[in-house]
Amino acid sequence: MTITDKDGVSVLNNGYKMPYLGLGVYKSKAGKETEEAVLTALKNGYRHIDTASFYDNEESVGQALLKSEISRDSIFVTSKVWNTDQGYENTKKALETSLKKLQLEYLDLYLIHWPVPDTLTETWRALEELYNEGKVKAIGLCNCLEHQIDEILENGNITPMVLQNECHPRLVQQNMIDYCQDKNIQYEAWSPLMRGQILDHPVLKKIAKKHRKSVAQIIIRWDLQKGIVTIPKSVHENRIKENINVFDFELTSEEIQEIDSLDNNERTGAHPDHFMEHFSNK
Ligand code: NDP
Repeated sequence: MTITDKDGVSVLNNGYKMPYLGLGVYKSKAGKETEEAVLTALKNGYRHIDTASFYDNEESVGQALLKSEISRDSIFVTSKVWNTDQGYENTKKALETSLKKLQLEYLDLYLIHWPVPDTLTETWRALEELYNEGKVKAIGLCNCLEHQIDEILENGNITPMVLQNECHPRLVQQNMIDYCQDKNIQYEAWSPLMRGQILDHPVLKKIAKKHRKSVAQIIIRWDLQKGIVTIPKSVHENRIKENINVFDFELTSEEIQEIDSLDNNERTGAHPDHFMEHFSNK
């Protein structure tokens, strides 16, 4: 695992390279806010941006990528197919729409945003085809438990390259991390900072003080040392810079365990088996 510098990449199960650290843009407002966040991130060494059609800011991400003038093959861009766009034909159309909005020829990673039960196998079949056509360089899932991944492994031809799940010190899901490691699926953390709700925790503050780092930096470093890809979101320049300034210190194995032990199975988002009710009107 290469986590020693900001250019560290995970080599996915198909050989494609994914930067361990990226910028998330969920709830970054379309227009200036997202454009500036992405440009600031790219200026400060980020080479991985995580968006989704659901975030309604793909156009702004695309604008920032264009303005940055960084070569396309140096940037890793993820998008996701939303629940109401799933199924075989719809997924293929959804990818075309995302590519158009992002002004890209291909995506580096295309994910199923939530595993809509009735169409999961068909949606995955579309992703496999898009992958085989070269329109997406890697494919994967979000918000899945073992049984949903098993369904894909049983019915599909390609093992997902990535699983992006909610993951932070209050929801470690070590069983899912171990499961993915066993199947050679890269684990990726969404809401790594628990949407800012855990930054006052005394244990994290103690560890942060010892390393003269912020709690956000401690959590991001914890992800990296556990081999987890992480995509903290911020629209503030100082925080975007802070969140990538995590390569000049190391957590001890005791500190990693201490952070692991904060897990109390607390979610900020929906449960993978009950999300349909959560998003019933979206
Ligand atoms: P995060 O855990 O990344 O937290 C973001 C919040 O923390 C924002 O309010 C941000 O504020 C604040 N913040 C960021 N950095 C710092 C810092 N250094 N100090 C203090 N506060 C800070 O939450 P997200 O939910 O955004 O998750 C990250 C990304 O994961 C998303 O943006 C999205 O790309 C992805 N995601 C995927 C999901 C899925 O279903 N697949 C679901 C949810 C997220 P501010 O912006 O004001 O600086």
